[in-house]
Amino acid sequence: MALTRDTSIRYVKGVGEKRAALFARLNIFTVDDLLRHYPRDYEDWSQSMSIAQGMTGDVDVCVRATAITAPREHRVRTGLSLYKFKVSDGWQEMEITIFNNKYAAAKVKVGQEYLFFGKITWDFHRACMSSPQIETPEAGRRMRPIYPLTGGLTSRALEKVVATVLDEGVEDLAADWLPESLRRQHDLCDRDWAIRHLHFPDSWDEVKRARRRLSFEELFLLQLGLLQLKGRSRRPTGTVLRQDATDEFTGVLPFTLTGAQTRAIEECLSDMRSGHPMSRLLQGDVGSGKTAVAAAVATSVIRNGWQVAMMAPTEILAQQHAQSIGALLSPLGIEVGLLTSSCPAEQKRRTLGGLADSSLGFVVGTQALLSEQTTFARLGLVITDEQHRFGVSQRAKLAAKGENPHMLVMSATPIPRTLALMIYGDLDVSVLDELPPGRQPIATYCVGSDKRERVYNFIKKHLDEGRQAYVVCPLVGEDGELREDDLSAATAYEKSLAEGAFRDYSVGLLHGRMKAADKQRVMEAFAAGEIKLLVATTVVEVGVDVPNAVLMVIENADRFGLAQLHQLRGRVGRGKFASACVLITDAHGDEVRRRMNVMCRTNNGFEIADEDLRLRGPGDFFGNRQHGLPSLHVASLTGDAVTLEQARAAADEWLTSGRLSDPANRPLQDEVRRLFATVGENGLN
Ligand code: ADP
Ligand code: MG
Repeated sequence: MALTRDTSIRYVKGVGEKRAALFARLNIFTVDDLLRHYPRDYEDWSQSMSIAQGMTGDVDVCVRATAITAPREHRVRTGLSLYKFKVSDGWQEMEITIFNNKYAAAKVKVGQEYLFFGKITWDFHRACMSSPQIETPEAGRRMRPIYPLTGGLTSRALEKVVATVLDEGVEDLAADWLPESLRRQHDLCDRDWAIRHLHFPDSWDEVKRARRRLSFEELFLLQLGLLQLKGRSRRPTGTVLRQDATDEFTGVLPFTLTGAQTRAIEECLSDMRSGHPMSRLLQGDVGSGKTAVAAAVATSVIRNGWQVAMMAPTEILAQQHAQSIGALLSPLGIEVGLLTSSCPAEQKRRTLGGLADSSLGFVVGTQALLSEQTTFARLGLVITDEQHRFGVSQRAKLAAKGENPHMLVMSATPIPRTLALMIYGDLDVSVLDELPPGRQPIATYCVGSDKRERVYNFIKKHLDEGRQAYVVCPLVGEDGELREDDLSAATAYEKSLAEGAFRDYSVGLLHGRMKAADKQRVMEAFAAGEIKLLVATTVVEVGVDVPNAVLMVIENADRFGLAQLHQLRGRVGRGKFASACVLITDAHGDEVRRRMNVMCRTNNGFEIADEDLRLRGPGDFFGNRQHGLPSLHVASLTGDAVTLEQARAAADEWLTSGRLSDPANRPLQDEVRRLFATVGENGLN
């Protein structure tokens, strides 16, 4: 049977039922999955060097040398034998140690030349290499793939299966869905060559060429899909704004809008006047005033006779939004309803009724908004507050409750441009790049836990001055994993503070597993200043706004991503008082230090997001593919920015010129559809 991309991996020679289960753990189910499981690195056997050349760093090297003594067995203890022998490159000698591998040792012949692949260490003036891979020069001179693995499969085993598949040939692999003209224009090799050489290159140069081709392809397909999604919003909509109510809104606003806010509002209104549905991302740093923009835009929508629905990822955030937007809009006589799963039945009934008969203009809610019961008489604008938590499909689901309503996506985490293009490629972007006046930078310090007493005194000093503070609990389980809301840890920690260092102060606790009503009560008490010190899990990340709180202390700060730390820190510095953030960590290591330094150095969320992306990669940046888009196998968002821009431009041109619809490009269209099959309600059509 000839292999195709969709052939199940268990039919590949040498795999079978049992090993197929191991492959499944790597998310490899088909031949296509296998071929897309690209090496994460290579062992470079092609550049062999002398012992002296190889001794320059803590990296694997390939040394060419001759065995000058036969391996001698040293029995260390029962069950552990070492075999040691000496090799020479003609200038210098090196001692090789093989652990417990009689067969490997037996193969070594004195006088024969070998390639030894491993790290050279320096031990009492003697070069040594432990457990190297050993090959004869003829067999070894190439680049060998190193695959991402889970237990039970070795890189060598994977290498063998990939080689089998490529030798046997895959029927529909050679078909290249990038036409030659495009490849020529961007200097891209063909698909078959790229796949073969990414797995089995002969040089780094080949790796580079293969990667470039496959990255371009991934990004091009992704952008074609995203731009098509965006194109859907180019359909006409009946929701056309004729009246601008911004002046009415600013008339009752207790502050003056920043230039950036005014610009963003104007961009939204101009979209909503156009006769096409708006699809806009509103990006801004913590505290840049996104809520006021949303409220202003909503006012115009409501004054034009339409309704507004705003969806937030958590209950607590929905409550906060309902409250703060309600406060902004109540002077205008606009009521803001709240709809979450824990709302009392009577309130829920009233809200749903108001939405259905259009007597309620604005509703804020959680995903409860998506339920079938929720219907709108005249839904004109959908706002989502994302923090990367909603996928394209959830947004679409809410929008389906109206007839092509406008869509405003608010992102609390500033996203670097490359990433915005990737994840929000289907949206236009407005950026709030200006903070309201009078904001003071939040002084940030990083200390070890041995300084905890001093930190507590620092907190007390502020509490004594009448201010308030947050402490974010350590949330580390026994397995060392971060727990979002580990009830026992949070409770115990709060108790230790309330009964210990802070027994003379009122201390409150807020964690993710509390009932909504209890959370609400604690939040209100903190906002009213009754609670002075709020011990919290990361739930405070989402939107608490208490200007009198001036201090944020974060335990186990190394456990958090930079974007998350930045969000947490953004809970302070919201009023007229100078504010500070203390990061407590005992973790050492360069990476932790670098990350903490970034926090201490800057308050700029975009800079922090860039750094986060660079240090951790986009996977971690977003958690488990929360964006719901096809995953990338080759392309890197940090390394391939230029390729991304090229792919974006090419995709744009293909769509506007209609080239994608050309029957000759059918395979390409099919591939885009296949990739986006799981995105959106009905994928691409
Ligand atoms: P974001 O959601 O972007 O983090 P918010 O909308 O919560 O920011 O605004 C943060 C704080 O700044 C709020 O207390 C809000 O009332 C206030 N604020 C917003 N815009 C302005 C402005 N133009 N001038 C003064 N204060 C503002
Ligand atoms: Mg906010």
